Parts: sequence; C-alpha cells; structure tokens
Amino acid sequence: MLIILRSLAAILMLFTVIYASSPLYRRFIEKRVNKIENKFDGKASKEAQDFHSTLFIADLHADPLFSYRNLLQQHPTGHMDIPRLIEGNIRLQVFGVPTLIPAFPNIIRNNSKIELAGFLAFLQHWPVKTWYSRKNRAFYQAKKLHKLEAKSKGTFTIIKTSKQLKDHYRRVMMETDATAGLLMLEGAHVIHKIPDDLEELYKSGFRIIGLTHLTDNHLGGSAHGVEKGGLTDLGRKALKQIEALHMIIDLAHASSALMDEVLRISSRPVMVSHTGVKGCINNPRNLADKQLKAVASTGGLIGIGCWEEAVGEEGAESIVASIKYASQLVGVQHIALGSDFDGGVTVPFDAAGMVHITEELMKQGFSKKEIRMIMGENALNFLMNGLPKH
Ligand SMILES: [Zn+2]
Repeated sequence: MLIILRSLAAILMLFTVIYASSPLYRRFIEKRVNKIENKFDGKASKEAQDFHSTLFIADLHADPLFSYRNLLQQHPTGHMDIPRLIEGNIRLQVFGVPTLIPAFPNIIRNNSKIELAGFLAFLQHWPVKTWYSRKNRAFYQAKKLHKLEAKSKGTFTIIKTSKQLKDHYRRVMMETDATAGLLMLEGAHVIHKIPDDLEELYKSGFRIIGLTHLTDNHLGGSAHGVEKGGLTDLGRKALKQIEALHMIIDLAHASSALMDEVLRISSRPVMVSHTGVKGCINNPRNLADKQLKAVASTGGLIGIGCWEEAVGEEGAESIVASIKYASQLVGVQHIALGSDFDGGVTVPFDAAGMVHITEELMKQGFSKKEIRMIMGENALNFLMNGLPKH
C-alpha cells in the first residue's frame, strides 16, 4: 500500500514539476519547432517596399492559436503575432485550429493511436477540459481568437460574413494599423453529428472546414494517413451541410481519393489553403498537376506555402518558383499565399517579412496586376463569394 502511495505521489510531483516549468520549456521547444532560417542579408529594395505597402495581402493559413504566445504582443519566437502581421502588411489571416496531433507527425503515414495535442494543451496551461477533448480544444482556440479581438482595441477583427470583409477591405485601404482573421478548423475530427456539430462550429465563428489533417478520420482520408481513403457516408453528409451553411471546404492535407471525390461532387468552389506543387517538389504533401487543374476548375483557390518541405530551401526564390509553376498551369487568378506560419515548420522569414515575396515576384517578371492578385486580391474575391452574406 505504502509503495502505491509513494508511486502516486512521485507521479503527481513529476506532473507538477513539468507543469510549473513548462513556460521555459515551451519557449525552448518553439525555437526548434517553428524555425526561421534567415536567407536575407538586407532589406528589400525601396521600390519593392513602396509597392508592397499599397497591397491588400491575405494569408490563407497559419497556426499561432496552438501557441502559448499572447498574439497582441510582438515576440522573438514563432512566426507571427498581430504586430508582425501589421508590419508585414498582412490584412487578412486565416487561423488554423488543429485538434489532433499524432505523436510523430510526418507527411508519409500517421495514425492517431498516440496523440500529442492533449499533452501540449496541458503544457500551455490551457483549461483541463482541453486536455482530454478535441472538441473542447477547437472551441477553446476559437474563444481565444475572440478574446484577442475584444482586447485589440479595434486593430483586429474576426471576419464571418462577406459584408464584414467588404467593410474591412475599405477600412484597411485607408488605415494602416488594422488586420483581420478568419477561423478554419484544421481536420474535422470533432464532427460527429450532422447538422448539430457543424451548426455549433458555425456559431463559434468557424467559416472554413479542412476535412482532414495529419491522420484519417471518420469523414475521410488524409494524404498522410494510413488508409488514405475517400469520403465516408458521414463525410458526404458533412460536405452537403458545410455547403448549405455557406462555409468553405479546405482540401489541404486531403488524400488523393478524398480530393478527387470532393472535387467531383462539390457544388461550390473549394480551396487548398497551404500546399506546394509536385512539379517543383515531389512529395506526398504537394499537389499534382491534375489536382491543381481540378481545384481551379471549381473556381477554386490554391495557397502556396512558405515552408521548406513544400517549396524548397531557397527562401523567396523557392516560394515564387512554385507560385510561377502553378500560375502558368492553371492561371494566376487561382493562386494565393498559404504560409503555414507557426505550423511546426521552417520558413525563410516571419510574417513581418512578406515584402520579400513581393520583391521576388517583381524580379521573376510578374506584372503589378498579377502581384496584387496573388498577394491578396484573389483570396479577397474568393472569400467575398464564398462566405455567407450577412
Ligand atoms: Zn497544415
């Protein structure tokens, strides 16, 4: 009996020590997980900076909500926060909400037997209810973004309708210190009941649904899952309900079978928020030519990433090479940015450094009109058409 009590006390002590020391530990971890490999010696040219400051810039994917950082303040670690969004002139940011992270995340094959998200929630000092429930983790992150909006003194707004987006666009074309965000569920592991769960997500502010993330789930297959299958019956029902609610489908991380099926049966344009292209970097994470064409044929949007695994290691040059490849294949009107900042990736600059993409697009011969489209106007138009009106 004494041995059991002593063991329990030792376990409790261990957890207390881990919990109490986690602020230092998570900073240490984050430096290694969300790296910046600075490929830039100096600033961008004056010409690039001047042009960049006139753009409406949108980024279709970043994951800072899973971080411990207070996003109202600028931090030396991680890839983005509100001050860095404003410095980089990003006027619209889609915030990913992951809820299931497998123990050894990779882009080849993951199962969900051992998952890390609950332990990470514990380390970040999130409420106990988020340690054991994916659904609670989703709603907690949505609430976090709403709290950020409330405390931002008007510098940050959450967009839920096309009317709000239109108003926001008009505002930021005149004011320079404001930005906005949209909520995207990264992996629909929390959807079990249709329509109840989707209606609840809608009420909490979610407007974009990524069907799968790093693992297969009961709606369909992931590009990095075990089965990598198509839509399940529940997945088909969910798709219909997502469309009925005027929410947007995101196919980033979808298996080929899932992507083919959704593209065949969806009645609204879809997006792939953060990806690379197989034509430049051939890996299981990136889109093949026929997939790029199929997404574009729905009137869809493809967000090209900023991280090494998706586009390569040459900084802005690699990012723009993938943008160029996709633009030439499907038309520049379907291409946007999907950085994956704070998504556990290595990038060449943080959100404050988006001017390097503008400069490289200029160097590689894109016209000013095309640069405006890629950097944000395509995303703006796509979301204006895709979001609910009011
Ligand atoms: Zn992702």
